[in-house]
Amino acid sequence: MLNNQELEEKFREQGFSDFKWIDPQQIIVSQWVRLKCMFGCPEFGNSAVCPPNTPSVAECEKFFHEYKNAVIFRFEKQLEDPETRHKWSKTMNMKLLKLEKIVFLEGYVKAFILPIDSCYLCEECTSNSKDCKHPKQSRPTPEGMAVDLFSTVKNIGYPIKVLKDYTEVMNRYALLMVD
Ligand code: SF4
Repeated sequence: MLNNQELEEKFREQGFSDFKWIDPQQIIVSQWVRLKCMFGCPEFGNSAVCPPNTPSVAECEKFFHEYKNAVIFRFEKQLEDPETRHKWSKTMNMKLLKLEKIVFLEGYVKAFILPIDSCYLCEECTSNSKDCKHPKQSRPTPEGMAVDLFSTVKNIGYPIKVLKDYTEVMNRYALLMVD
């Protein structure tokens, strides 16, 4: 197994330089996040990686409690054309999946990435995890796992705020569970 410094080298080799280690017990899981998914998000019921295809909030909490180490990756981005945001996040998600595999192959059998955005691999999502066309590459977001990202990243000193439109600078976050 690698030590944390050696893992950090792996992250940087893959182009990820803005990250912080976080004790998984500091990852805040909240019921209100699930309610926001259920009421107001167009992905609810339309994405195989989003609620109601993700575990219950209680199960999500249990999942995070099973880990001792995690990393938060920050992605600061401003897009000239906001319509390209899903294309950009799809590219980032794929890079993060590659990193999950690298960490897994180093012997971290529980390595699991929660990427920055919903899965947009297919033109049309099957809307249920059972029929997902690329199950090896699809993962839920932290929000899909009921993570209160606002509180979690603020508590470790990372910036985050509500954006009024997609032309503003975004701060997006991914979580890599490492054990
Ligand atoms: S791989 Fe395709 S079917 Fe599976 S979650 Fe992603 S978009 Fe949906």
